[in-house]
Amino acid sequence: MRGTQKKALDSITFAKLNSHKPVVMEKHVYIETYGCQMNEHDSERMLRLLESYHYQETKDPKQADLILINTCSVREKPEHKVYSALGRYKWLKEKRGTIIGVAGCVAQQEGDKLLDRVPYLDMVIGTHAIPMLPQLLQKIEVSGERVCETSFDQNGKYLEAVLPEKPVDKVKSYVTIMQGCDHFCSFCIVPYVRGREKSRSSREIFEEVKHLAKMGVKEVCLLGQNVNGYGKGLEEEISFSELLERINEIEGLQRIRFTTSHPKDLSGELIQAFSKLKKLCEHIHLPFQSGSDKILKAMHRGYTKESYLEKIDRVKKACPSIALTADVIVGFPGEEEKDFEETLDLMRKVQFEDLFSFKYSPRKGTRAAQFQDKVEEKVKQNRLSILQGIQKEITLQKNQELEGRVEEVLVEGQSKQSDQDMTGRTRSNKIVNFEGDLSLVGKLVPVRITKAYPHSLRGEITSAQDPPICNLRSAIYNF
Ligand code: SAM
Ligand code: SF4
Repeated sequence: MRGTQKKALDSITFAKLNSHKPVVMEKHVYIETYGCQMNEHDSERMLRLLESYHYQETKDPKQADLILINTCSVREKPEHKVYSALGRYKWLKEKRGTIIGVAGCVAQQEGDKLLDRVPYLDMVIGTHAIPMLPQLLQKIEVSGERVCETSFDQNGKYLEAVLPEKPVDKVKSYVTIMQGCDHFCSFCIVPYVRGREKSRSSREIFEEVKHLAKMGVKEVCLLGQNVNGYGKGLEEEISFSELLERINEIEGLQRIRFTTSHPKDLSGELIQAFSKLKKLCEHIHLPFQSGSDKILKAMHRGYTKESYLEKIDRVKKACPSIALTADVIVGFPGEEEKDFEETLDLMRKVQFEDLFSFKYSPRKGTRAAQFQDKVEEKVKQNRLSILQGIQKEITLQKNQELEGRVEEVLVEGQSKQSDQDMTGRTRSNKIVNFEGDLSLVGKLVPVRITKAYPHSLRGEITSAQDPPICNLRSAIYNF
């Protein structure tokens, strides 16, 4: 423990910080983010907090006065990545005195050890310590002290929104509705590095989304490790689908998405929400992890292949145009050829639009890391290639089915491929590129799909009067 650095999060307030804020010139922060949407969103929150201090973002680490490496340890070889990133920036510390910090899962897991191993590292920011970032930074700037904060916050302060003060140039925004997880799947590090499940109050979430919509955001993606569990432990009685209903009423907001749902907790009420709520996009990400009941049991997932398929049937019945995506792991300890075949069978039956597939990798401290019957690396790799090959064909076929149809697209910006093209997403979350100009950004436009590719679609803007063929539920075309 590093003395006072370990004091409880709630003992520090922003008022204190602001009253002692030194008058300083504007500085620059460079943030390097690894991992999932949750981490991307955390980086955005850190940036907003730092902006209200005296930092602006730079995309060039050489210009930065502060470099933050926001890490993820869910699947990758995270320590390796962190040390190599730190090695890359050592010369900047020596030459410019750049302050260097590590945030995210690895910071949470390694804590003080990181400071001990890397003498030029200034700051370790655990997953619950983000709101303290300005205070920690101030400490370093004033006293040169190295800091580490990895306590878990019992009061939920770490979940508080950091709102943009001026209109944002982004069409979409993430909104955290809950953090942590109580499921303890045997392969997963999340409950250890993000803590136990904690929901934010519906009022706070509502106010945040309302504020974002006022600032120009058209689409929100509600984030949580298990959004179906939303509401647990709150004083108010509210389910996730009730939260969606409230958000659906927010003026100016055009679309709502969420991730991730746990198949075990997927409620009938939520399934019905897809056919009821106009702004809720017809897409659900429902990780199945394996198609083998033996493996699902060892993973501690709480459902079987059959019950998963039943839920998928109910979702498809309630909303026939729904796009389904999922996560799957191959090579979990004990996975035999016949288990892998069950996984392939499940994915062939469901016909996912897309799949995020991973080779199992043991995570330190999880139960599965102790399992003995490990699958050889080359078998894992082979299974992954087979699975990805099959999914590639399914995805292309699904994309080709859209050729000739008209899709509602939310325009996000200029395409990376051409200055003449704009890019956006369908309600089913597929990328569409089409000819257009910047005046379309933030608008919902009907686009006829002319060509399907494995990872995107090509289209052309069509008239709103064209007979709607598929996902044109909003019909609020405003271009
Ligand atoms: N909460 C979500 C759920 O239960 O479906 C998943 C969240 S997890 C952060 C994202 C994905 O990473 C998981 O769905 C799983 O496929 C993958 N993953 C997690 N731990 C893994 C491990 N040890 N090895 C390989 N993949 C892993
Ligand atoms: Fe990890 Fe399972 Fe929780 Fe998802 S539900 S975050 S896989 S422990």
